[in-house]
Amino acid sequence: MTDRDKELHFTLQGGYTEAPEARDHFSLKETYGNFIDGSFTEPQTNSLRATINPATEKTLAHTTDADAASVDTAVAAARTAFEPWASLKPRERAKYLYRIARMVQERAREFAVIESLDGGKPIREARDIDIPLVAAHFFYYAGWADKLDYAFAGRTTRPLGVCAQIIPWNFPLLMAAWKIAPALATGNTVILKPAETTPLTALKLAELLQAAGLPPGVVNIITGGATTGTLLAGHTGIDKIAFTGSTDVGKIIQKTAAQRNIPVTLELGGKAAHIIFADADLDQAVEGIINGIFFNQGHVCCAGSRLLVEESVFATVIRRLKDRMQTLVVGDPLDKNTDIGAINSKEQKERIDSYLSLADSDGTDLFQIHCPVPETGYWVLPTLLLNVSQSHRTVQEEIFGPVLAVQTFRTINEAIELANNTPYGLSGGVWTQKGSKIFHITRALRAGVLWANTYNKFDPTAPFGGYKESGLGREGGLHGLLPYVTIENRSAA
Ligand code: NAD
Repeated sequence: MTDRDKELHFTLQGGYTEAPEARDHFSLKETYGNFIDGSFTEPQTNSLRATINPATEKTLAHTTDADAASVDTAVAAARTAFEPWASLKPRERAKYLYRIARMVQERAREFAVIESLDGGKPIREARDIDIPLVAAHFFYYAGWADKLDYAFAGRTTRPLGVCAQIIPWNFPLLMAAWKIAPALATGNTVILKPAETTPLTALKLAELLQAAGLPPGVVNIITGGATTGTLLAGHTGIDKIAFTGSTDVGKIIQKTAAQRNIPVTLELGGKAAHIIFADADLDQAVEGIINGIFFNQGHVCCAGSRLLVEESVFATVIRRLKDRMQTLVVGDPLDKNTDIGAINSKEQKERIDSYLSLADSDGTDLFQIHCPVPETGYWVLPTLLLNVSQSHRTVQEEIFGPVLAVQTFRTINEAIELANNTPYGLSGGVWTQKGSKIFHITRALRAGVLWANTYNKFDPTAPFGGYKESGLGREGGLHGLLPYVTIENRSAA
């Protein structure tokens, strides 16, 4: 055991430890194959990929990059499973989803620890937000499974068939739940590909699905990177693609789906404006700003990554914001006191650093908190970019890190214009005591998700999705059923 292991074991006893003898608090295999047709395939030694802990740079496990033959097998398994699953009584499908939800709750601690280890997010967030929301999504869509006649009154729905689902690394298990739960509730079968840097909770979910007795082939989980994703999205045996990830890859996926004329849902990037009016409760607004940009190290598609402050309160807001930022604890994601964990990967840290260098070279004032960070791992201190202008790339492009670009405005129309002036349209926030102002501005903002006097609140009943380059289609809520069915008039059915 190294000194750091000992320290972790000492400070985090109770399970949150990487010390080898304590690994049974969360069981991980050394090497994973793909989960196809209800069981794990043998790992392919010629295509192993290490998944590492970004806080320590240590390898947690190896996964197998699914090749063309594995993708074929997974699609075939999902195809074979489709008819029996689709024709199961809806209440029977619901029972499986309820069971999965309950089992996620039972194993919540293990899922939270693995999510934190594999992705770098603070254990507090994995434990209190991600994993409870995963269970909530399965519960919610379990509830719809036998009520589709009410969801689409007077019409008949049919599942689409075999769905390819590709997800990113920022909320690994939650994104898996967003995809799998509505697909299964509506009678589809699934091949899910988690991101290459965070495959472990999806593979843990595969073990749970086995234990839940889900019929083989209904959910298949294959691992790998862009090559596997391309093979899956382009496979002629799939009937739908659901993709969450970057806008650049989303465009490729859209083209692939268009070539075969199959339905596609795209949940892509964002550059949300968080607008603070002078009449807001400024202390609460500062808390909202902190949560808006520093939650999950800013690896959040709907992060409030642009701050627009009414000019008259700019100095006050920035002073209080800097003071509050200075209290943030950056470091070990497994420590319950940590606010800002590790950046998910070396590549992502380099990407964020390149934006910070860009900001430096274009004359932006950078403010970073003073705080020690661990010697190993990938870290970025919470950062403000002050005196930026609308044309700066740091204002227009998604940085996907704990970096907040700050601007001011004088009138409500100026705030709206600035907020809407990016290629994205995923989310936004507004802080004011005036209800009329909230209604006025939220109608004018071209964003799929808007919060007033709060930020980053998620619920399975609420639809989520974007406009413009933030994607198309909605996930969550009743709307989240739609991308997984075809609807016919009852008389025609
Ligand atoms: P990414 O686009 O690089 O990768 C996403 C997934 O696609 C991964 O599983 C990856 O392996 C796979 N992939 C990569 N290239 C592919 C290709 N050519 N064909 C098929 N699959 C391919 O995104 P990321 O870096 O993992 O995630 C961050 C992005 O995700 C950010 O832009 C963020 O805003 C977005 N995101 C959006 C939402 C939303 O709901 N709108 C939610 C979470 C994350």
